[in-house]
Amino acid sequence: MQEQGSGTSATGAAGVPTLTDDVVRRALRNCSKGEASRLTVPAWVRDVDVATAPVVGWRDPKAPERGVLLVPGAGGAAPCGLVLRAPTGGGARAAAMCDLCRTTRAAGEVALFAAPRAGAAGRRGDTVGAYACADLACARCVEVERGTHALRPDPGRSVEERREALAERAGAFVDSVLGER
Ligand SMILES: [Zn+2]
Repeated sequence: MQEQGSGTSATGAAGVPTLTDDVVRRALRNCSKGEASRLTVPAWVRDVDVATAPVVGWRDPKAPERGVLLVPGAGGAAPCGLVLRAPTGGGARAAAMCDLCRTTRAAGEVALFAAPRAGAAGRRGDTVGAYACADLACARCVEVERGTHALRPDPGRSVEERREALAERAGAFVDSVLGER
């Protein structure tokens, strides 16, 4: 089978790359090309404004044990992302805090994800764990102005601060998985 030509680069209004399926698959650093190609990219991902989104995350609708976390590149750079494995037994049994967006969410809504390390370590089965929103919707959680009992954003911080802190923590997590920090 012939590889699809990649001469066309989809860009948004400001020259920022659109998260097409191709861009997403190329961004994933801790899985094989085969796994990346089997991944389902939900339609809404294409409409994400990568210039402002701190992270883009989702659970694979066709393989719920798989999650994806993308960190958009600064200044129009290509995004960098990870495939995550979710536990099959559901999330935490009590309210818990997401390591990435620091939102405290109801029982079952925060899960311990495992990110396979890149390269040889990953092939040996090494992973890095993180408690994160089970739906990986951290980018939406930080936008919540007024928390509820089931979803309490990081207290004492503005939406803007939460967004920045999320991008920073997610970037650090990606780097730790890739062994760059
Ligand atoms: Zn979160």
